[in-house]
Parts: sequence; structure tokens; C-alpha cells
Amino acid sequence: MGTALDLLDVDASLSEEERQIRAVVRQLVDDRVRPHVAGWYEDGQVPARELAREFGRLGLLGMHLTGYGCAGASAVAYGLACLELEAGDSGVRSLVSVQGSLAMYAIWRFGGEEQKRRWLPAMAAGEAIGCFGLTEPDHGSDPASMTTRARRDGDDWVLDGAKMWITNAPVADVGVVWARTDEGVRGFLVPMDAPGVGAREIRRKMSLRASVTGEIVLDGVRLPADALLPEAVGLRAPLSCLTEARQGIVWGALGAARDCLETALSYAATRTQFGRPLAGFQLTQAKLADMAVEWNKGLLLALHLGRLADAGTLRPEQVSVGKLNNVREALTIARQCRTILGANGVSGEYPVMRHANNLESVLTYEGTSEIHQLVIGQRLTGLSAFG
Ligand SMILES: Cc1cc2nc3c(=O)[nH]c(=O)nc-3n(C[C@H](O)[C@H](O)[C@H](O)COP(=O)(O)OP(=O)(O)OC[C@H]3O[C@@H](n4cnc5c(N)ncnc54)[C@H](O)[C@@H]3O)c2cc1C
Repeated sequence: MGTALDLLDVDASLSEEERQIRAVVRQLVDDRVRPHVAGWYEDGQVPARELAREFGRLGLLGMHLTGYGCAGASAVAYGLACLELEAGDSGVRSLVSVQGSLAMYAIWRFGGEEQKRRWLPAMAAGEAIGCFGLTEPDHGSDPASMTTRARRDGDDWVLDGAKMWITNAPVADVGVVWARTDEGVRGFLVPMDAPGVGAREIRRKMSLRASVTGEIVLDGVRLPADALLPEAVGLRAPLSCLTEARQGIVWGALGAARDCLETALSYAATRTQFGRPLAGFQLTQAKLADMAVEWNKGLLLALHLGRLADAGTLRPEQVSVGKLNNVREALTIARQCRTILGANGVSGEYPVMRHANNLESVLTYEGTSEIHQLVIGQRLTGLSAFG
């Protein structure tokens, strides 16, 4: 897109504004992410606060939301931004997705006026970081079974439980935490420095190492009545946030795949074996052609879903089609590109294996492939096969 990879001239169907936003984000990634990301990944450390402020300055945080300091961009523009960010690293795109599409979206969609004013402008500017706690140590794909509890005590709420694998938790100022109550699942805004809140970093990840992930422990956390998100009632609320965030992933995964493909194309053009560049072998061209075809199909899918979102007609199972296909294909592309680089493919000097490793997390979070297959299967058959 904007490159030789754009076999189908998809670029031509983007508006001038969409192309401009893409160019700005691509430049930011070139300047601020690419030179450092291999080191962040290797060290398992990322300057999340610094990056959040820079992304905030560019209007990337909650950019598809309106009001409260948010940019009000189209779904397609937001998707293109995710693609460019993830061409840098899936962890960097995750920072933006969790902030904008999970934490900010939950407050924007389900919060009261005071809550929105308190948090959204600061989060849009990257001055405050949010996280989104749904997954628990014993409940991942099946959040309906969650055991984190919130009980009323006078006007207050008291929360007990644990959330696992929570992006940004150790660096967050506020957590959107989902808990079981007598009225069903409700959402709470938890200041991460409140007494009884712990956020331990999960270390030794082999994937998404340029992203901070943590476990949230809630031990008798007492919150005032206004910590409750008033409009979020039932599991539908957090699930709608996930539908929102998955749209960014549909695009983002293509960014990681594009970076792999561009790396493989340039490597194959210059690496010579048997007296000719790897790119000149039919077997290499077959790989490149198949990958480029899948990438372009994925891009058409992302654009179609983005246009449906902008028209206000996008349905959750359509997002499942995009998440399932684009992440699965991106991972296949990353692994295939790695073979083209031979031994260099396993080196951190090249981005390919980092992207492939990252995409393993992207395949799992925001609904695993199997869960999206079940969503699509239910739509096709009318039968739920989850339980
Ligand atoms: C790096 C990273 C960051 C994350 N960030 C967040 C975050 O910010 N917030 C958050 O809430 N969560 C986050 N997650 C958690 C993620 O959403 C969960 O890992 C995911 O939902 C899967 O849950 P699980 O890991 O418990 O796997 P499980 O639910 O235990 O599933 C294990 C395997 O069984 C399969 N399976 C489960 N049920 C079925 C079924 N009915 N039929 C067939 N197969 C099934 C799954 O598809 C999977 O392959 C993150 C995860 C990672 C890795």
C-alpha cells in the first residue's frame, strides 16, 4: 500500500486525508520506533509513557472517538494508523489499541459525564495511561465465568479478585476492570494506585516483548460509588469494547506482515546463491506471489470492514472474519518470510522473527482464532458450539 505490494491499487480508493494520516504515522514509526524497537524487544523494556505522550501529541490515542480531546477520525484512518504502527511492532500498536479502543472507548461509551471529563482528555494526550482488565488467571476465552467480584458496602464498592495478561497494567494510571456483581458483570474505573491494587509485571514473554503486560491483584479495593461505569451492564459491554479493538488488529496485523514482506523482498533481491539473487528462483517467487496475494486480500477485507464501520453497519461476526483471517495470514506470511532470510531470519538484526513472535500473541488476544471460528460458525449454523 503505497508500495510495490499494492498489487490491486487499493491506495487509489483511499481519500487524501487517509493517505496523509498514514504518511504521518509512517514517519513517526520510522523516526521513533524503528531505530529502537529491536533493543526494546531484546531488553523487554519499552518507554511506554514517553511513547504515549508522543502518540498523544499526534492525536493517535482514541483517534476514532469524538469530543473530549479525541481526533474524531474515520475507522479507515484509524485502521491505517494501526497498520503503520504495527509495521514498527505489534507491541507498539497494542499500546495504542488498548489505550484508545479498550480503555478510552469503554469510558467514552459507558462512562458518565464526570468520568469522561476526568479521564478522556488526559488519556487522549497520553498524560494518563489506561488498561483493560477482563482476562483472569482461570478465565480467558470464557469471561462469563469470571470470579473477580464487586460488592456494595454502603455507597462504596469493594473489589476482590485478579486479572491476568493485562496490557499496560504495570504502567497504567487507571484500569477499566470488569467484575461480577449482584446485577451481573459491571465495569469499574480503578485508580491503579488505590490501596489494595497490585500490578506485577509478567516477565519472560517470548512475544510482544516491546509491550508491558501485567497481572492485576485486587485485594479488598474500596472504591466510591462514582467508580462504576453507569452504562455498562452485562458482559455485552466489555465484548463491545473488544469488537472495537479488533478492528484495529484487522489492519495492524497487515502492518507486521508488510514489514516482513518488504524485508524478504529486499533480502531476496540482494542475497545471491547459485550465482543469482534468491528473488530470481521460481520457488522464491512462488512464495512471494502467494504471500502478496494473501496480503492484498487481507487489505481489501480490512478496507471493506473499515468502510462498513464508517457507515455504522459493521457487525461483530464480520469483525471476527477480519481478525481470524488477517492475523492468521499475517503469521503465515511472517513465518514464510523468515525462510527466505535463511539463518538471518532468526536474527534480531532483521524484524521478521520479532514480528512472527509478536503475531503469536495477536493470534491469541482479542479472541483466539478458535473463538472467532465459533462466532462465525454460530452465524452460519444458528448453533452455539462454545460450551
Ligand atoms: C501479550 C498479551 C496481552 C494481553 N492483553 C490483554 C488485556 O489487555 N486485557 C485482557 O483482558 N486480556 C489480555 N490478554 C489475554 C487474552 O485476551 C487471552 O489470553 C485470550 O482471551 C485467551 O485466553 P487464555 O489465554 O486464558 O486461553 P484459554 O481460554 O484457556 O484457551 C486456550 C486454548 O483453548 C482454546 N479454546 C478455549 N475455549 C474453546 C472452545 N470453546 N472451543 C475450542 N477451543 C477453545 C483457545 O482457542 C486456545 O487455543 C492478553 C494476552 C496476551 C498474550
